[in-house]
Amino acid sequence: MTIIKDQFYINGAWRPTAGHEAIDVHSPTDGALLARIPQGVAADADAAVAAARGAFEAWAATAPAQRANYLKKIQEGLKARSEEIARCITLEMGMPYKSSLRIQVGTPTATFGMYARMLGDFPFEEQVGHSKVLREPVGVVVAITPWNYPLHQIAAKVAAALAAGCTIVLKPSEVAPLNAFALAEIVHDAGVPPGVFNLVTGYGPDIGEALVGHAEVDMVSFTGSTHAGKRISQLAAATVKRVALELGGKSAGIVLDDADFKVAIQAVVGNCYQNAGQTCTAQTRLLVPERRYDEAAGLAVAAAREFCPGDPLDPATTLGPLASKAQQARVRDYIRKGQAAGCELLTGGADPLPQVPPAGYYVAPTLFGRVDPQAVIAQEEIFGPVLSIITYRDEDDAVRIANGTPYGLAGGVWSASDAHAESVARRLRTGQVDINGGPFNLLAPFGGYKQSGNGRELGKYGLEEFLEFKALQFRPPPKA
Ligand code: NAD
Repeated sequence: MTIIKDQFYINGAWRPTAGHEAIDVHSPTDGALLARIPQGVAADADAAVAAARGAFEAWAATAPAQRANYLKKIQEGLKARSEEIARCITLEMGMPYKSSLRIQVGTPTATFGMYARMLGDFPFEEQVGHSKVLREPVGVVVAITPWNYPLHQIAAKVAAALAAGCTIVLKPSEVAPLNAFALAEIVHDAGVPPGVFNLVTGYGPDIGEALVGHAEVDMVSFTGSTHAGKRISQLAAATVKRVALELGGKSAGIVLDDADFKVAIQAVVGNCYQNAGQTCTAQTRLLVPERRYDEAAGLAVAAAREFCPGDPLDPATTLGPLASKAQQARVRDYIRKGQAAGCELLTGGADPLPQVPPAGYYVAPTLFGRVDPQAVIAQEEIFGPVLSIITYRDEDDAVRIANGTPYGLAGGVWSASDAHAESVARRLRTGQVDINGGPFNLLAPFGGYKQSGNGRELGKYGLEEFLEFKALQFRPPPKA
């Protein structure tokens, strides 16, 4: 049964859309029609921004404890519907259900809770000499998000912006939009005042650009491709909006000579193939010492072959389909480019998998060996389950290769000692580095160097993105 959404959430109510076209959302497991959502137009952008602008002054003036209360209610609402939303995200973008429940819903739920707690003692004011420095909400925020961790990327923006006292217009990805409709219902049930949170959907170049260029918008927070990020920066510059960009990556997992190779290589392969490789922080380049290439390649092939592609609702599945047909075609094209460039295909490839429905958007877990660091597949973000093994001569060479792409989002270093790994991690031009598999931390800043972006999300850093400074200068006391 096709899910039909034909209204936007604007100014505290579900309203008819100004446009008359719809966007089809397809199931990645077999290509069937899953849902229809509205294709928003500029008039919808105007209505949503007007609602957010109208609600701003009162919301900005609420006490932090009051905003914390709303965030807590949203957290509870997500928790109560977590199984339903995890299933919805699995159906719309293909992540295996068990992971979806933990990552796609568990993480955003925790993010709302984290910001609710942070409001308890966040310093919105400080005294600097004779000035009182206030941290005030930046204003009306447009949040534009992608499909790979759809609700997590939404929560990182929405929870932080609401905590800061901003009002929001959310435009989620048209590929995986249903979770955003669920969030709007939860926000409504939490009693968040009308206009504080608004939801519209549609294509980036249409309603997305109408929002980004809108004169009444103060900030755009964008997560997505570097290509779209550049376009958004250009459009936003016309009205000098603040722009926070979280873009692509081509991260390296560096296995140092003294590391436990079996543990490290299995972890890098798992990191790369998580969510079928559709992770902006995915370690898609496995860097190993040249003289131990054969050992490393053998371990990587064994780890790759353990992945079980299939229906993401089947508990045995560890690799779901890609989110869209276009993404499947793009990833297969990269695999063919790798082969054409002479990279050694160790396992996987561009051919269809026999054990899955032919109309599903699956790609085999794929591993290339002895990849030249300058090869297209080692330089460009593929966003699929494709890992390249690159060899290095010594640690300086490893650092040079790791830093040798236009991106700088994440990475990992493996060694027998954390201190040794840290000494290498400090040399990487990237926003996050996992030391010996250190896990994700919601309180740590998330974001990129270079063309991976210019913003930071999560923790206090993510809240600060949505704040302006204001200095009140008082007359200093007369000198005695
Ligand atoms: P995308 O850039 O095509 O789309 C992302 C969002 O931007 C969608 O909502 C889309 O409708 C909108 N959009 C596209 N063009 C636009 C425009 N001109 N104006 C306004 N909005 C526009 O990216 P995608 O294909 O949805 O997601 C995959 C990409 O996102 C990958 O490159 C990935 O690395 C990146 N990503 C980055 C992070 C991060 O935090 N750094 C996280 C997840 C994904």
